Amino acid sequence: MDILVLNSGSSSLKYQYINSVSGKVYGKGLIERIGIEGSNIEHKKPGSEPYVIERYLPSHTEAVKLLFEVLLDKEHGIINNLDDIQAIGHRVVHGASITEPTLVNDEVLETLEFAKRFAPLHNPGAIAGIQGVEALTPGKPNVIVVDTGFHSDIPQENALYAIPYKYYTEDKIKRYGAHGISHKYVTLKTAELMEKDPEELNVITVHLGNGASISAVKNGHCYDTSMGLTPLEGLVMGTRSGDLDPAVVFTIGKQHDLSYDQMDTLLNKESGLLGVSGISSDFRDVTEAAEAGNERAQIALDMFINRVKKYIGAYSALLGRVDAISFAGGIGENSDFARAEILKGLENLGISIDPALNDGAREEKEISAKDSKVRVFITPTNEELMIARETQYIVENL
Ligand code: AMP
Repeated sequence: MDILVLNSGSSSLKYQYINSVSGKVYGKGLIERIGIEGSNIEHKKPGSEPYVIERYLPSHTEAVKLLFEVLLDKEHGIINNLDDIQAIGHRVVHGASITEPTLVNDEVLETLEFAKRFAPLHNPGAIAGIQGVEALTPGKPNVIVVDTGFHSDIPQENALYAIPYKYYTEDKIKRYGAHGISHKYVTLKTAELMEKDPEELNVITVHLGNGASISAVKNGHCYDTSMGLTPLEGLVMGTRSGDLDPAVVFTIGKQHDLSYDQMDTLLNKESGLLGVSGISSDFRDVTEAAEAGNERAQIALDMFINRVKKYIGAYSALLGRVDAISFAGGIGENSDFARAEILKGLENLGISIDPALNDGAREEKEISAKDSKVRVFITPTNEELMIARETQYIVENL
């Protein structure tokens, strides 16, 4: 089935037009700066130069209008008419009570409105994207695939915070996790590579990109994950702090007279690799600076590596038996250095990789040493394909 996959951010819209069965990508691109001066679309069709249009786009509806215009363009486009698109799959970061891929209706949109409080940076864009598509192609099936869905299996003992229970029952405060579409894809891909049923497997899935998270997957279902109520908890990220003592928030807040919103910005946008190194949020930049002898860059890098290592240890203990560890995301897929450093010294947990297989590897591949009890894989993630497959399933079963 040919599906348009949309991943709408607050001021951006990433898209891919993809076949959900073969995985063939007909075209993809990015619209940026929606609602800001300098909006533009960059559209890529395999075998062609990127096609760029700069045009002010005041809203997501205007962005979707431009997207359809480009998709239909005689020279640069990839469809003949809008009916070629059989369905639209939307990535939604936070689904609140929606955990399964779901056909969009008014009730779904109301739930996504409620979930804005948990994903204020992401959900408004997703809602605007859906409304933009609905306004321009009424009646076409729109399906949402939520990042929190895969984590909805996490049992209460791992999902709840140790705060008064009423905040869970009344305010729905719990660990929802994020990157679930990627963790699910990586789990299924690992099972495929191991030629096993996912229900038989315990896997630690490690998604390391600008945002980073790690999941303990037990018998194919998520048992714990590092991101929490929001994507701030867990690993050290590009600009996010990950785990910290909550007292850091009120201590700094009181000391510097910062509001909740300012603390939110500090921890989400000014922390992580960027905050510690003072150089960049980008893993490559920080690695280069550390290699050149920058001490703070080295500390930031060590913090990043050690945090992942710590979670692998914790999840090995929680799972009891680990069959595989799989790496994805810009860092997990591309950095042999990160993978080697993270897994260094974990031989007691039955984890060792073969440097000859790891060095320079970026493709889907097993990198474990022959005697490693735990198998280690690079499993480049493909969230768009996952969304397309889930969308196809919903549309076929309407
Ligand atoms: P993502 O958010 O998944 O696109 O990942 C972005 C992160 O991946 C950035 O921190 C990049 O520095 C990092 N990254 C991309 N390519 C490489 C590479 N070849 N080696 C190390 N890090 C990389």
